[in-house]
Amino acid sequence: MDEPRPLIISDFDHTLFQTEQFKQDFLRSLGLKELKVGEFLAPEQLAAFDRTSLSVDGYLFPDAAEFLRRTTENELKLITTGDPAWQSFKLGFVPLLADRHQTILPGNKGEYIREHILPGLTGELHFVDDLEENLLPLVDSVGVNLWQILRPGSEHPKHIASTHPRIRVIDTLDKIQVENTKI
Ligand SMILES: [Mg+2]
Repeated sequence: MDEPRPLIISDFDHTLFQTEQFKQDFLRSLGLKELKVGEFLAPEQLAAFDRTSLSVDGYLFPDAAEFLRRTTENELKLITTGDPAWQSFKLGFVPLLADRHQTILPGNKGEYIREHILPGLTGELHFVDDLEENLLPLVDSVGVNLWQILRPGSEHPKHIASTHPRIRVIDTLDKIQVENTKI
């Protein structure tokens, strides 16, 4: 019998998606300087936004586009956190993610994976995120490979490299090695 194929779970913001660039362009298109989520981003406002004023499919990191093309629907799932309307709005700019399993959570991704995905897991798991806080809940879990991606030049205050021995810090998704898969 074939070995179960590894599952890859990927974060969205700052991992696959150039969130800062997107936010800047989005604000500029609205004539605003600052983004205050919850103040003006009502779902109706997002729905009314003219998407053609921004580049659809232009905000994936180049290695992320390649990463998605190398994995299938069953091999890679997406988990993101935040305001559901805002997250869905951003996801809509990435046609390559349209056929992927997408979960939008209010809380910590690592805790969600530990409680809801690990119990049913048959093969190994790879989880990639830009924030250490999402990876830490899984450092004691067997069969879980943890990758922290830190994009060069990021000014995000939480982009600090983990020193935990179970967490591998990378600067491109090209470095994620998954045995027994096409990657
Ligand atoms: Mg992120």
